[in-house]
Amino acid sequence: MINSELPNLNIEEKIIKVNGDISSIFYSKGKELGKGGFAQVYELTNLETKFKFAAKIIKKSSLAEGRTLQKLMTEIKIHRSVHHKGIVKFNNFFEDSENIYILLELCNNGSLSEKLKRRRRLTELEAQNYLLQLHSIIKYLHSLKILHRDIKLSNLLLNEFMELKLGDFGLATKIEFEGERKRTICGTPNYIAPEVLSSKIGHSFEADIWSFGVVAYTLIIGKPPFESDDVKVMYMRIRTNLYAFPSNVPISSEARDLIEKILQTDPGNRLTLDQIAEHPFFNRNTIPKNLPLSTLCIPPSKN
Ligand code: ADP
Repeated sequence: MINSELPNLNIEEKIIKVNGDISSIFYSKGKELGKGGFAQVYELTNLETKFKFAAKIIKKSSLAEGRTLQKLMTEIKIHRSVHHKGIVKFNNFFEDSENIYILLELCNNGSLSEKLKRRRRLTELEAQNYLLQLHSIIKYLHSLKILHRDIKLSNLLLNEFMELKLGDFGLATKIEFEGERKRTICGTPNYIAPEVLSSKIGHSFEADIWSFGVVAYTLIIGKPPFESDDVKVMYMRIRTNLYAFPSNVPISSEARDLIEKILQTDPGNRLTLDQIAEHPFFNRNTIPKNLPLSTLCIPPSKN
């Protein structure tokens, strides 16, 4: 970790100074972009270049617990090693006496979770566009033997061009050897695959594909398939594959078939990424490459 020699300048003073290799850089802190489990995210502007970033700020005091620091180190190590247009770019990281700062590519059109709240649910054309982008992101990560393990709407961000960017590598891990099964129970309740809930079985790449299925259902239906106020009930529903397609929400037979073939309890029965790409849902019509900004609030026009 880079050691700042300027411990007295902290984020509370709205400006922080970082000792880079060549020269010092000043940043001004802008609006808050969001809050996560242990980070606050702010807009940060490089005062020299005027270039804007998203800065994930983590209080060092919150890292007191041994595993939290270890997790942050893993997040940084994995995130800075991946380079894909669908992944939030990792720019830099540094620290002062109070915080650790991770400078990320700014995604100023919010997350898919925020978009869904405004829109209630998305059209299948939009779902096709986002899911196709997500498919290529997961394919890239899995080709590097990386599991993301926290694919969900609030980690899918939109940049100024409405391109999808996956962020938050806080739960990511690397498969170290062929056939390795991870056993740490982690993820976000709504999106957790059944095998992740059982440390005995262990999980691998198929867990991200399950989350892809949950994202697909949620975008089209407007709420996650296994949702319940009670997490125990939610886990029971996930374990027993208890979900339904509400009769009052329109869904095409192709979309329904895709979701059903992904939300399979046995990871071995789940569609693979290649099978997903070949599925009729992605091959029945021309999928729009770009979605206009207006879709943040209103559905795209049909023509
Ligand atoms: P945590 O690791 O603590 O869960 P996240 O990485 O999920 O934190 O970030 C929390 C929130 O901050 C996100 O849900 C999003 O609203 C916002 N955010 C994170 N990264 C960016 C970014 N690169 N651009 C814009 N907003 C971001």
